[in-house]
Amino acid sequence: MAAIDGLPPLREVIAQHGLAAKKSLGQNFLLDLNLTAKIARQAGDLTGCDVLEIGPGPGGLTRGLLAEGARRVLAIEKDARCLPALAEVAAAYPGRLEVVNGDALDIDPLTQLTPPIRVAANLPYNVGTELLVRWLTPPEWPPFWQSLTLMFQREVADRIVATPGSKAYGRLALLASWRADARIVINLPPEAFSPPPKVSSAVVHLTALPEPRYPADPKVLERVVAMAFNQRRKMLRAALKGLGPDIEDRLVAAGIKPTDRAETVSLEQFCALARAVKAG
Ligand code: SAM
Repeated sequence: MAAIDGLPPLREVIAQHGLAAKKSLGQNFLLDLNLTAKIARQAGDLTGCDVLEIGPGPGGLTRGLLAEGARRVLAIEKDARCLPALAEVAAAYPGRLEVVNGDALDIDPLTQLTPPIRVAANLPYNVGTELLVRWLTPPEWPPFWQSLTLMFQREVADRIVATPGSKAYGRLALLASWRADARIVINLPPEAFSPPPKVSSAVVHLTALPEPRYPADPKVLERVVAMAFNQRRKMLRAALKGLGPDIEDRLVAAGIKPTDRAETVSLEQFCALARAVKAG
């Protein structure tokens, strides 16, 4: 395997720093630096960009991002055991890697980043989904990030890129497609990780649109979509009853049949419904 930098192979780094994977932190490490460089390339042209990386672990993806030319990487890692290994990476790329020890769900990294900003992460899946929803629902649009390149378990990746009529279609797909382009760019079998997880994974790349695809109040749209999919088997006139007695009229005004179910309704129709609900 061709080395992407002069640093030791990841297996050696993990052995040297005693980084036995902890299940509680969702630690499934990528050991192939060619693969981490490939993931970094999916994040787009990194030269001239600050990259926010969540969960660098022993530094495989971090090294990929730096080798692919990121101007600066800010990496947030919860596990303090990883810090010495990451310090070695920082020393090999002077002034380009800063590591913050803490929980990404509690830290606001924005003060430490300069636009343009891209986000890249191989995270435990529960943390990844929570952060994705936060990044897709900021107080203002466009968001701080230009793109998100994130590893998910395959089933979650499918939900992010799903289209109407499919079983995977729901809140995540609507959130993502309203203000971003999302696609699966790499599929990975469990053996790509050490230790291998039980399920396959996929890297999803999202780019922020300059403005939402269709106008709608974000809070109203989120509420309508959440209610519609909370009872996805019910007809919309029943699932959305809580939105008021005239919900059937609003559905019709939005071009939706009251007897339709959430999973057949397009993003454009949901946005029209959010506008009709707000107008009411
Ligand atoms: N990026 C490395 C790689 O690709 O090999 C590690 C990936 S491993 C799936 C997830 C990493 O996220 C671990 O290093 C873990 O310690 C870290 N982590 C878990 N929860 C975190 C959180 N809430 N905030 C920051 N890092 C977290």
